[in-house]
Amino acid sequence: MRIRVADLDPQGVQVALDAGAAWAREAVEGALDGPVLALDGLLTVRPVGPGVVAQGHARASVERSCDRCLAAVRLDLGGEVDLYFQPSPPVAVEREVALLPDDLDLGFLEDGELDLGAVVAEFFLLEAPAVLRCGEGSVARLEEGTCTPPAAAPPADQEPDPRFAALKAFKSR
Ligand SMILES: [Zn+2]
Repeated sequence: MRIRVADLDPQGVQVALDAGAAWAREAVEGALDGPVLALDGLLTVRPVGPGVVAQGHARASVERSCDRCLAAVRLDLGGEVDLYFQPSPPVAVEREVALLPDDLDLGFLEDGELDLGAVVAEFFLLEAPAVLRCGEGSVARLEEGTCTPPAAAPPADQEPDPRFAALKAFKSR
């Protein structure tokens, strides 16, 4: 979903997020890398100077797998959205960015348009944890059992995996 910045009223436009909106669902799936279980939120997009801000809130749940035990888990993320998007004259960008506070989350408009899918994706990318483990923070286990790694490593005297041999040959080239 795209918004032409030139068409925006000063008070902006409100956009609801839900799992029924294909653009929003796809943005979340792309950012969080799993099927969407739930999605809701409300964003207000309004012009600020030459750019726009997207503010409001968003929440999403996606299904992933635990990085430790590989069990299915639900990742719940959400919070306040406050993102700024500015026009992107490629040459001026570096200089302008240097003048902005380090912690400001910043994106760019494309041909005077804001891609709302990119807004949603950026928000959830910023929220996502680097590692997913059962029961940690926003990660809930979806199946019975405990978080233990699936299989023990093969004994040291076993034949090495032929794929590693191939990798070794590749590396020594
Ligand atoms: Zn686990």
